[in-house]
Formats: sequence, structure tokens, C-alpha cells
Amino acid sequence: HLPVLVGAILLEHHPNQSIGFVLDNSARKELEQRKDAFISMASHELKTPLTALKMQTQLARRRLERQSLQEAATALEMVEKPVKQLERLVEELLDVSKIQAGKLEYRQEMVDLGVLLREVVETMQQTHSSHTIVVRGTLHSSLMGDRDRLGQVFTNLLSNAIKYSPGAETIEMDLRASEDAVTIRVQDHGLGIPREQCDKIFDRFYRVVGPRQRAIPGLGMGLYIVAEIVKSHGGIITVESDVGKGSTFTVTFPKREDA
Ligand code: ADP
Repeated sequence: HLPVLVGAILLEHHPNQSIGFVLDNSARKELEQRKDAFISMASHELKTPLTALKMQTQLARRRLERQSLQEAATALEMVEKPVKQLERLVEELLDVSKIQAGKLEYRQEMVDLGVLLREVVETMQQTHSSHTIVVRGTLHSSLMGDRDRLGQVFTNLLSNAIKYSPGAETIEMDLRASEDAVTIRVQDHGLGIPREQCDKIFDRFYRVVGPRQRAIPGLGMGLYIVAEIVKSHGGIITVESDVGKGSTFTVTFPKREDA
């Protein structure tokens, strides 16, 4: 089966360079199924915030007609969450299409990963009180790269750790720096990922097959984007996981000469 898998990966990452590469039927079918599942989930993920938007704006209008200004303002405040959901979805879709076109651009600036990580955790903790994020390790460690994009990597790994750990409240984050590398680890005690699917989760639109995972909404774009950002910073990302026990994602960046 190996050549088939390699084919699928090639097609995923280099759509224009895979011309002439023959995918056999089962690989083609898998890609088709993944795209079908994506479209169905995406419609759902668009519909939910849109419905909320529609309801809240109608409510606000009715309240304005009745001159209940304060109540109208309350209804409009409720619009914030679905708007954010839509914004995130559209941004991820744009990121995926930029990656596909090789047009994702990165700023080059000195980034203190320790400071960035703590900022991300603080923001996350404000919006996700269900889980406790414990941060350990180096306070300061710098790297050349794109601050916002690196923040996106941490945000994504953390939000996955929370999302896929219903009932397992503690998430651990760890930042270590050696002379030649910086390592960030995100560990949860949640659902875990079956061993044979660990490589695939970084593929575009891939979602783990299993009733508990599928019940949690998502489109399989986050880790694809994360892996691309890490790769573009010269780093690598790996995952170790035990079903029912949890997952640990490890990102390692080499310290470059110019950093
Ligand atoms: P999404 O979460 O939107 O589906 P991602 O690309 O972020 O997409 O993740 C791909 C898949 O990997 C998820 O659908 C999920 O099945 C699995 N996954 C990611 N992170 C975790 C985690 N911390 N624990 C368990 N499964 C995970």
C-alpha cells in the first residue's frame, strides 16, 4: 500500500507537480470521500453561525422597533460569537488556498517564543474556562519568524487539545531551549489518536475516523496549516498518542545562524 499513500501525500502538498503521477482507484476514492465529508461538514459549520446571526439581528430589529434600546444592544452583542466563528472559518479556508498556491507569506522578525506562548495561553484561558493550561519551562527563547503565524500554531494546538479532551481538564505546555533548538510540547489527556492515523492528521481535510472524534465539529484544516507554518520556519512537528489516554504534539525549531 505504500506507493498509494505516497501518491496521496504528493497530490496533497504539490498539486501542480503531481501531473503524470498515477493514483490508483482506492487512493482517489479516499480523497473524494474526504472532500465529500469536508463539503458536508463545511455547510454545517457555515449554517450554524449564519442561523445565529439571522436570529439575533431579527431580534435586535424587533427590539429597536419597540424602542427597547438596551435590549437591542444585548441582542447585537450576541452577534459577536457567530461572526468570530465565520471569520475563523473563512481565514482558515483562505490559508489553505494560499498554501495550495504557494502564496502564504511570512514576516521575518525576532520572536520571543516564551512571551508569545504565555500570551496565547492567557487569551485561550479567558475563552476556555473548562480546561486548565499549565505552562512549564523556559521563560525566554527567541527565534526569527512570523509572530502571528507562530501564535497561530500554538493557538491551534491548544484549541485542539481542549476540543478533543472532553472531561480531561488539564493541558500541559512546555517550552525548552537548547543551544541548537527550541522545543514546544502540548500534551492533553483526551481521546487520543489511533496509531495508524497519526501521520494522516496533518493532511488537508483529514479527520480521525471514530464516533467520538466525528461528533466534535471541525474541518481538518487546522493541523494542515500548522504543519505548513512549522515547516516554513524550518521546524518539524510530531505526535505521540494513546487512544483513551491522550496526545502529545511536539514542535521543534532549529536555532538558525541569523537568530
Ligand atoms: P479539525 O479539528 O478541524 O477537525 P485539525 O486539522 O485541527 O482539524 O485536526 C485533524 C484531526 O486530528 C481532527 O479531526 C482530530 O480527529 C485529530 N486531532 C487533532 N488534534 C487532536 C488531539 N489533541 N486529540 C485527539 N485528536 C486530535
